[in-house]
Amino acid sequence: MIIVMKRGAQKSIIDHVLQEITKSGLDPIPLHGTERTVIAVIGDERLLDIHHLRSLPGVNDVMRVLQPYKLASRDTKYENTVIEVNGVKIGSSELAIMAGPCAVENEDQVEATARAVAQYGCKILRGGAFKPRTGPYSFEGLGVSGLKILRAAADRHGLAVVTELMDIRQIDLVSKYADIIQIGARNMQNYDLLNAIGETKKPILLKRGLSATITELLLSAERIILHGNQQVILCERGIRTFETETRNTFGVNSIPLLKELTHLPVIADPSHATGRRSIVPAVALAGIAAGADGLIIEVHPKPDTALCDGDQSITPDMFKKLMKQIKMVAKAVKRTLP
Ligand code: PEP
Ligand code: MN
Repeated sequence: MIIVMKRGAQKSIIDHVLQEITKSGLDPIPLHGTERTVIAVIGDERLLDIHHLRSLPGVNDVMRVLQPYKLASRDTKYENTVIEVNGVKIGSSELAIMAGPCAVENEDQVEATARAVAQYGCKILRGGAFKPRTGPYSFEGLGVSGLKILRAAADRHGLAVVTELMDIRQIDLVSKYADIIQIGARNMQNYDLLNAIGETKKPILLKRGLSATITELLLSAERIILHGNQQVILCERGIRTFETETRNTFGVNSIPLLKELTHLPVIADPSHATGRRSIVPAVALAGIAAGADGLIIEVHPKPDTALCDGDQSITPDMFKKLMKQIKMVAKAVKRTLP
C-alpha cells in the first residue's frame, strides 16, 4: 500500500502517519521526494484500515500497488531518482557515460584508458578488479591491487570509479575504492549480496541478469531499496536468446519500459549486449535514443591483447568518435552531456 502525503506535509504530521502504521504491526518506509513524501507499507495490507488512513491529517491519497515491487515503482514515487556522482546527475536530463576496460590488467593500460576517456568527456571510469568468469581458468582480476590502480588513475584524471563487487566479504574493501558499486548480471539474484549492499550508502549499478525478466530486475532493485539504499541505477546489458551471432541480445524494449515502470535511472551496456566491437557504437546510440540515462562501455587501448572481453572493447579513437555521435543523438532527444 502507498500513502501519498500532501505537498509540504510537515515532519510531525508524517511521523504521526508512520506511528499509525507501526501500531498495526506493519513496516512503513517513507520516501522523501522533492515534491512530497510517499509512504510505502510493507506487509499484509489487510491489517490496515484504509478509510482511517485516508482521514489522517496530511494524507492526500491511499492506494494499493498492484505490482510486486513498490519502492522501485513510479506509482510510489513519480519523480525521477537522481543520483549525483562526480558532478554527474544520473537520472536527470544529463547523460552519464561510464567507460573503461572490462578488467584492470596493469597501471599502463588503466592510465592510457583513463586519460583518453577523460579527455573525450567521460566522468566515470569503469574497470573490474574482481571478475566473474565463466571458466575457472580465465583471468579473474587483480583484486585489491586492481582497485588501487583504478582509483589512482581515476583520481589523476578527475574521474569517479565504478567497479564490480562479487562477495559480501569484500563490501568494505570495494566501498573504500569505488564511487559506484556494480552488481554484475550473474549476481542480480544473489539475494544475500543484495540485502547486504542495501545496507551500504554507495550508489549501486545493478545489471540485468543473463535471463532475468524486467520484473525480476525490478524486484532485485526493490530488495536493495527495502534494505535501506535508494540509490540504485539499473543497467540493460542484453539477455540470452537463441541468437548466436551476438553474445547477447540488446533488450532495447526494457529501456523505455523501465523508465515508465520505475523512477530509478536506467543505463545501457552496449558492450556485453553485443559482444562485437563493430556494432557497439550503433547499439550505444540506440540506447540513448530509447531514453537511457547513460551508458557503460568497455574501452581498451589495445583490445586485441585484452585479458577479458577484448572482442567487445572499443579503442580510445572509436570512443572519441562515439562521444561526438552521442552528443548529436542527445540533442535530438533533449538530453545533455555534463
Ligand atoms: C562487466 O561489466 O564486465 C560484466 C562482467 O558485466 P555483466 O555482469 O553484465 O556480464
Ligand atoms: Mn566485460
